Amino acid sequence: MKLKFCGADQEVTGSCHMLVLDNGYSILVDAGMHQGAEQDTEKLNRSWLFDPAKIDCLLLTHAHIDHCGRIPLLVKNGFHGRIICTSATKDLAALMLLDSAKIQMRDAEYANKDHRRRNATEPAVALYSDKDVEDCMKLFESVDYEQAVVLNDHATAVFKDSGHIIGSASITLKVKVELDQEKVFGFTGDIGRPNRPILKDPVRMDQLDYLITESTYGGQEHENIHSDADRLLEIIKQTCVVNKGKLLIPAFSVGRTQEIIYLLDQFANERKMPNIPVYVDSPLAVSATDIFRNHPECFDKDMVEYIKKDPDPFGFNGLKYIRDLEDSKALNALQGPAIIISASGMINAGRIKHHVANHIEEANTTILIVGYCAKGTIGAELRDGAKEVWMFGEMKQVKAKIEVMDSFSAHADQTEIMAYISNQSIKKIQTIFLVHGEIDRQQALKTALEKFGFANILIPKLGQEFIF
Ligand SMILES: [Zn+2]
Repeated sequence: MKLKFCGADQEVTGSCHMLVLDNGYSILVDAGMHQGAEQDTEKLNRSWLFDPAKIDCLLLTHAHIDHCGRIPLLVKNGFHGRIICTSATKDLAALMLLDSAKIQMRDAEYANKDHRRRNATEPAVALYSDKDVEDCMKLFESVDYEQAVVLNDHATAVFKDSGHIIGSASITLKVKVELDQEKVFGFTGDIGRPNRPILKDPVRMDQLDYLITESTYGGQEHENIHSDADRLLEIIKQTCVVNKGKLLIPAFSVGRTQEIIYLLDQFANERKMPNIPVYVDSPLAVSATDIFRNHPECFDKDMVEYIKKDPDPFGFNGLKYIRDLEDSKALNALQGPAIIISASGMINAGRIKHHVANHIEEANTTILIVGYCAKGTIGAELRDGAKEVWMFGEMKQVKAKIEVMDSFSAHADQTEIMAYISNQSIKKIQTIFLVHGEIDRQQALKTALEKFGFANILIPKLGQEFIF
């Protein structure tokens, strides 16, 4: 049996791991897109470390683009096997991939207009089109959490709720090696956090032989979750009521946006919410919110109770969802205080980039960063305290107040990762592979795991193979 690391190795994007059984049956866990500003991103996204036509099935942990974003390309390049995930992930992946295709097609079109001016020889081409997304969605099958899925005579998979985003799952793969023997592989996907609003807590995996775990926040601890609401309300009051400015919240369209809306919905129900307009300016977020509404099976107990009293936890007076570009542009002329929630969370693309560019030089604006920002993005620069940022061809002075709230993170921090793994027997688990993290974070997590008593903790490089 061979385990090959094909993405998110010593970095946080491009998740892709391959397990080839002794009989040649090949399983892929995730086929994510590499994101970020590095030069080799494009090349990494276009090439595979295996032949897509030879993969028998793809197990998808969740619908974030860095986990599912290359599926249409995989299919375009010859993959024709099963794609298995939870029902909410299937719905969300359809949405996310279509959005990704549209962005790529538009970016390619812009780039080609440029290239004609510069007489470049190679035209820009999207990784895949909306038609490719349509094709790949035909291969999707949905399964329930905790349901054993038979892949072939030798392998079964179980999806367990990982509490990270709606539909997210860890995947436990049981592989028969000899008559009565099996090897158990656990892929965490991205690990969520206990006690978060809306979604259920992560469910731990049963005893494993090999664990492939994410390590995004190794060595780091998040803020106290319970301070979320108070701090957000304080920032709203200070920015919008006292300073009469705009609060811009760059947020991932899925998860973070709904959590914030749900918090604001609670403020509204508790009559704490100041009377200011709130805009969710992202067509993807609007559609994603509908997917939340359609998958109440993913809700935790508190949310189930809440919707008994307020059937629409994602809607309140003063909240407007914006799909059309023209309506989004109209926000530029908006006078007075307002809250604008828009994507992307890293301010590297999307409508938020325009809102940030329009208001970053105003002292009464607050930009509230609520999530991880990859190196090289404007979000990361602002987090790091940049005094000026380059946006749309000009240098902008950062006069707006920059606030950071990491407590919204959908990723477990070190203590939470340790708690999630700590049910594993130190004696029984043979190897722990750390993926989906920058190397310093991975080293920190490795040290913590070793302190706990785990041995054989490896940090694979891209393309590295292990034979069992
Ligand atoms: Zn994720």
